[in-house]
Amino acid sequence: MILEYASLLKSLPDAGIVRIFAEMSNKPFNAFAMAQAQFDKVASTLGLDRGTVDLLRYPMREYHFCLPVRMDDGSVKVFRGFRVQHNDARGPAKGGIRFHPEETIDTVRALSMWMTWKCAVANLPLGGGKGGVICDPHNLSMQEQENICRAYVRQISRDVGPLRDVPAPDVMTSGQHMLWMLDEYEQIHGGHFPGVITGKPVGMGGSLGRTEATGYGVVYALREALREMKVDPKDTIASVQGFGNVAQYAIEMYNQIGGTVVAVSCWDQQDQQPYTFIRKDGIDLTELRNVTDRFGGIDKAQAESLGYTRTNGKAWIEQDVDVLMPCALENSITADNAGRISEQVKIIAEGANGPTTPEADQAFHERGILVLPDFLANAGGVTCSYLEQVQSNTNYFWEKSEVLTKLDRMMTSAFADVSKMARKRKLYMRDAAYTIAIARVAQACKERGWV
Ligand code: GLU
Repeated sequence: MILEYASLLKSLPDAGIVRIFAEMSNKPFNAFAMAQAQFDKVASTLGLDRGTVDLLRYPMREYHFCLPVRMDDGSVKVFRGFRVQHNDARGPAKGGIRFHPEETIDTVRALSMWMTWKCAVANLPLGGGKGGVICDPHNLSMQEQENICRAYVRQISRDVGPLRDVPAPDVMTSGQHMLWMLDEYEQIHGGHFPGVITGKPVGMGGSLGRTEATGYGVVYALREALREMKVDPKDTIASVQGFGNVAQYAIEMYNQIGGTVVAVSCWDQQDQQPYTFIRKDGIDLTELRNVTDRFGGIDKAQAESLGYTRTNGKAWIEQDVDVLMPCALENSITADNAGRISEQVKIIAEGANGPTTPEADQAFHERGILVLPDFLANAGGVTCSYLEQVQSNTNYFWEKSEVLTKLDRMMTSAFADVSKMARKRKLYMRDAAYTIAIARVAQACKERGWV
């Protein structure tokens, strides 16, 4: 069985990922094909049997539904929603729900698979899931968004639960959305079930530190990488893609450890294109936050009047910096723009999920850039979600410093495991992280007697 799978990959003219992506490059980007190819590349080296490979290459369960939603003008609009549970061998499925106009089932499949690896590499007793609704919150009132949240839960209420599948916030969803979802779930099930969802507002079952956790976690991992390279963070500068929740808190923690951010990019809703805002002596986070909307969109005129230079959205990647932090969406660093990265860049810390395509990844591998892969670097969010679940389920809430200390320790330990594996087996960091995660999930499936 083991040989069968390995030889299948070898029988391709150009074994594994390179060929798969050559085939894909003429087609539109497909996150699920990318997630499967990343998996295939490592699975073939792990000696997994065919059953395990077939199980892990696909989600175990997925739900597709229509959401009839009452709009403010009295009409009913039907939205499409998804929830995918990739694998729950290590514990209840876990992962966010995204609201995005470009959402697709394949993106949600990929993200649910990445959640499985993320929870495993962080050594959490959780599996992987993800959800999405095709909608654009920029064009929806808060009442309409609440109606979408409640309609979503009405469709999925029997298939999520504290011991089954636990959603969380993600792109364009927040603590408020989680609270509406929690409330709808509790209305249906008749009781209090705060462990059914994480990322809830503080005081309503949420954990202190959860809002900061993903961004802080990116920088905890970055700090460890710099420590191993014997580079003082104070001597580094960075450029960041995105200015939403992950980016803002990553910048906050990066500043705390002494780093300087010289460029941030963000999507401009009015012009329907991204821009990069540059200040060579370092951006002032508080000042920029004050001119930013809740979707992470920076007001152009106000930023310019504060002395920021505004240029095209691609410029963030071309800056002469030591660190790049892509903290926006998937598929932002590709074969087309990977070559524009400055010689000075030493580390790419992936705050977003799936920002780097395998072709770009291959180029970074060859150039010797240290890539902190998404499912390691951005695992702080789900790690803090786990801490939130523990607090919710026991109805006892910790101080912020306790949460952040635990979070830091867990991220530092996950980084150390991956770095050790990379050194021991001379692997690229992403492959080392995959090796650990896939092996842990495969073992859980085996011990349960599934494969
Ligand atoms: N949406 C976040 C992620 O992609 C957090 C998921 C969670 O907390 O369950 O990791």
